[in-house]
Amino acid sequence: MKNTVNLLIAFVVSFLYQAPTSAAEKPNFVVIFCDDLGYGDLGAFGNPTIRTPNLDRIAAEGQRWTSFYVGASVCTPSRAALLTGRLPIRNGMMSAKRRVLFPDSSGGLPASEVTIAEVLKSQGYATAAVGKWHLGHLKQHLPTNHGFDSYWGIPYSNDMDAQKGFPNYRKKAIEDPHYYAPIKQYQVPIISNTTVVERPANQHTITQRYTDKTIEFIRANRSKPFFVYLAHSLPHIPLYAGKQHLGKSRRGIFGDVIEEIDSGVGQIVDTLKELGIDKNTLVVFTSDNGPWLPFQTHGGSAGLLREGKGSTFEGGMREPAIFWWPGKVVPAVQMEMGAAMDLLPTFCSLAGVQPPADRTLDGYDLSPLLFGATDKGPRDTVFYWRSAELYAVRQGPWKIHFITEGCYGIGPKREVHETPELYHLEQDPSEKYNVADLHPDVITRLVAAAERHRQGIQPMKDQLADRIPTN
Ligand code: MG
Repeated sequence: MKNTVNLLIAFVVSFLYQAPTSAAEKPNFVVIFCDDLGYGDLGAFGNPTIRTPNLDRIAAEGQRWTSFYVGASVCTPSRAALLTGRLPIRNGMMSAKRRVLFPDSSGGLPASEVTIAEVLKSQGYATAAVGKWHLGHLKQHLPTNHGFDSYWGIPYSNDMDAQKGFPNYRKKAIEDPHYYAPIKQYQVPIISNTTVVERPANQHTITQRYTDKTIEFIRANRSKPFFVYLAHSLPHIPLYAGKQHLGKSRRGIFGDVIEEIDSGVGQIVDTLKELGIDKNTLVVFTSDNGPWLPFQTHGGSAGLLREGKGSTFEGGMREPAIFWWPGKVVPAVQMEMGAAMDLLPTFCSLAGVQPPADRTLDGYDLSPLLFGATDKGPRDTVFYWRSAELYAVRQGPWKIHFITEGCYGIGPKREVHETPELYHLEQDPSEKYNVADLHPDVITRLVAAAERHRQGIQPMKDQLADRIPTN
């Protein structure tokens, strides 16, 4: 009898103290976002001379997405799109006057926008931003005012605050695939929360320090749900690598940088495993826009895609993307379309919270596709904005170009097409064969889709145009 009572007590106690079931537990989210990484810069996406064993492994264990898009072909608007789930044209983070924010910009992501961090914070998540922000460097625009509990990183691009009297980086880069600039050439600061703690940032050590900060945050928050947004400031030029990686890649310093980022991914994944939280954590890896081609070997490669950063050809806006969550994300090469703007609705769905309902979102919940509940993706259209104009639209396999323009710096000049160009992206991923003449019905359909989309865009205050008053 006594034994039976003891057994009963033991059963009740074990029931009461049982860890929450995985269905009830809110998952953690780790977003690793690179800068100017091209579609062809990872081993898993076909690069022949850059070693990315950690990314290749999580790509094989998870899903490798081959049609994953960003919201813009350049830093600031692309980051705004990822964090808000909205096209940057909807909130003034895309401008005809200036493409991105600069150290003299007074604007930033409007306080009225709702970020992934804010939504998750409302659900008890610990949140951190590590790395490049580029959504406004004045205090009111920094991550800690957009739902992040903490921030550590550079507030804008790593080539800003450039000083006079140094060699021309592009010239040196073209001459030497291993070149790196003196640190003091770029007086970009590191900000901790809202305080400058280092200036100029030591960019040789910055990639490993971002990884360390991310791991520190994960360890500190292992027992509650967390979201960490790790936005590497590289491989945007100027390129720097840590001692352990410098000169190690066959691809020159660009390869050294990617291999260091890859090593960091390995360290983060190993930490999740060590803490026993890997089976409750979704890791997403992608980049903000395509490669900056004028820097030649110091820029990345879009692989088989056309053009690069700044362009609405695929090389500017289609990015390598990997989703990893052992036991949940079904291993696959995913050819359905996805976008950085889909992360907010996807994370909301997984965290059991409604996305903001008082505004237009441009994202979809990708979780049924990630978990293998369906093989048909929710997204069938991509809108390609540049400056404040709609340049192109993809619907299914078809992509129409109303305006074309090449890579930032060296590509073909802007051209408005009276007869739009039409490409079949599945049969012609390199956008080589304009088949507009053969498919007038498709042109009519895509012109109508573009018009409906334009009608839905309300003019907003331009956040990128204004400068800090100088006196
Ligand atoms: Mg970028």
